Amino acid sequence: MASSINGNGFITTTVDELLSWGRRNALWPVTIGLACCAIEMMHAAASRFDIDRLGMIFRASPRQADVLIVAGTVVNKVAPMLKLIWDQMPEPKWCISMGGCASAGGPFPTYSTLQGVDRIIPVDVYIPGCPPTPQGLIFGLLELQRKIREKKVTRYEKAFEEFKKDLSPELLSGIGV
Ligand code: SF4
Repeated sequence: MASSINGNGFITTTVDELLSWGRRNALWPVTIGLACCAIEMMHAAASRFDIDRLGMIFRASPRQADVLIVAGTVVNKVAPMLKLIWDQMPEPKWCISMGGCASAGGPFPTYSTLQGVDRIIPVDVYIPGCPPTPQGLIFGLLELQRKIREKKVTRYEKAFEEFKKDLSPELLSGIGV
């Protein structure tokens, strides 16, 4: 945190820094795996790599999670369930596409496989590989932390307020704003 501590024990910082510090150091992924990439994801959470030490703790409920790691092949049958899980996660939330299958269908250019999870969910970080290693996933999570650190929350809120002025009241009530 960009802050300073003077001799009297005061810490000075900005709202952006404080919110970003809290968000990026408590990334809680939702517990869901779709195929072989999920084994590597589990490996990242197990004792050897232990992402708990980075404040990343898997949660069993999407309502308590803020990161969706799409680990594995997204077939068309499971896509609506995955989208439902994403919709149930509270804002702010982020999505990591782990591996070739999640990012672009991987070795399955078939009618039954979604050719990229970004067709249904906005993706923040793509991790290449088949499968990506646990180290690759951790690199992706650190990249996500970097993105969150660079985001100016207050500037975003101000821009959103400006954006809302152009929307009709019916539309705003329809999307619950
Ligand atoms: S990218 Fe490779 S390892 Fe990952 S789910 Fe697809 S086939 Fe399995």
